Amino acid sequence: MEFRIEKTLSNGLGRAGVIKTAHGEIKTPAFMAVGTTGFVRFLSSEDLRSTGAQAMLSNGYHLRRKASEIARAKGLAEWRAGAKGGLISPKELSATNGERSKRGATVTTGDAVAGSVEEEAHSVGSVVQFAEPWHGPTLTDSGGFQVMSLGSGLGKVVSMEKERHITNTAHKDRLAHVGEKGVSFIDPFDGTPDFIGPEESMQIQCQIGADIHMAFDELTSLADSYEYNIEAMERTERWAKRSLAEHIKYRDDLGYRQNLYAVLQGGRWEDLRRRTAQNLAKMSVDGVEFDGFGLGGAFLKEDLGEILRWCNEELPVGRPRHLLGLSHPDDIFVGAAMGADTFDCVAPTREARHGKIYTRHGSINLRKMRDVGEPLDHDCDCPTCQAGWTLGSLRAMWRSGDEEQKRKYYRLASMHNLRFIIRLTEQIRASIIGEYFDEFRREFLHDYYGQLIK
Ligand SMILES: [Zn+2]
Repeated sequence: MEFRIEKTLSNGLGRAGVIKTAHGEIKTPAFMAVGTTGFVRFLSSEDLRSTGAQAMLSNGYHLRRKASEIARAKGLAEWRAGAKGGLISPKELSATNGERSKRGATVTTGDAVAGSVEEEAHSVGSVVQFAEPWHGPTLTDSGGFQVMSLGSGLGKVVSMEKERHITNTAHKDRLAHVGEKGVSFIDPFDGTPDFIGPEESMQIQCQIGADIHMAFDELTSLADSYEYNIEAMERTERWAKRSLAEHIKYRDDLGYRQNLYAVLQGGRWEDLRRRTAQNLAKMSVDGVEFDGFGLGGAFLKEDLGEILRWCNEELPVGRPRHLLGLSHPDDIFVGAAMGADTFDCVAPTREARHGKIYTRHGSINLRKMRDVGEPLDHDCDCPTCQAGWTLGSLRAMWRSGDEEQKRKYYRLASMHNLRFIIRLTEQIRASIIGEYFDEFRREFLHDYYGQLIK
């Protein structure tokens, strides 16, 4: 994998570059669409390409039982994923449907982190359809977050009434246990005991064959103490070394180079973040180092910029960094300014399914509006807006009792929201290269949030 930096911001951290993988280039900063199980829900690969998506992120945990099938297809980029068709599950219709998200969530007051692995129940009686291969660059997450969330439960567990009232309430229903070897857990879908450690995660990811993999790490929650964060971070570093050693064995098995990123944890503490960045930057096995870095953790929104600065001031400039699980425009700007190169999050598509449409002047909730003939967003270049769909027509589909209409809505709204965030990263890239990043940021955030944000 090659990473070339084209331009750096005057703060020395933010940059525009190009990541070259075996399946194509990613021009950064870039937003990766999330296709947890190998495809983005309700979208074909062609739909996805039409949003300008350059890369797709899938999950090692969700795909682990299909790993050998994917390997036979020569990897995720060539695999024809089995997609649910026909009936929509009640879970998909509910307001709390749960595609996993927020691996590295920023949480603000009242910003509930919804979803859980259990909520991703398979719909009964679905007709299986097959999504065409994606063919482009791919990334897989290690599965550590999904497994861990069964236990520490970030998402369904952490309640953020106020910053000082962070509570962690789910230990009574713990389904996962962290040990030195890895994480033992009960599969929420079928109740069987299972285990994933660094070696298992690397074996799974190397069979799935994405271009970029994540080392197996332990994610802490906002409720965890400084002392626990030290323990978890040191364990994550030991797991990183084991991940690297195992990854080297299999990384060329599918006939092209698969790359590995180390994941930085350390919570909200500067000494921990800087220390783990230094340790992972110089870590190597038989002379092989990590190809890049994942910036992980649960962040309070106001801490995000500082945490990224601490990490990225220590990390080597020439290796790419992926900020896990964030997509709000203000978070993307902070991430790009502080040196994150790629982003992913399920929010654009999940929020689309919940009736939230992104526009230049903030998001619109379809639930609260009357039928109107207005476009979703003036000047939007997404396939939905280009085809002339209006807010009123989408709202009618969304509220329709007809499943086919709802599916159509999910597809059209998902394409619009994805394009919105992808276009934003394209514009950020252009503004870094054109040296007008600060002006663009000010203008965009003013329009989007309706106030001047520094
Ligand atoms: Zn649009």
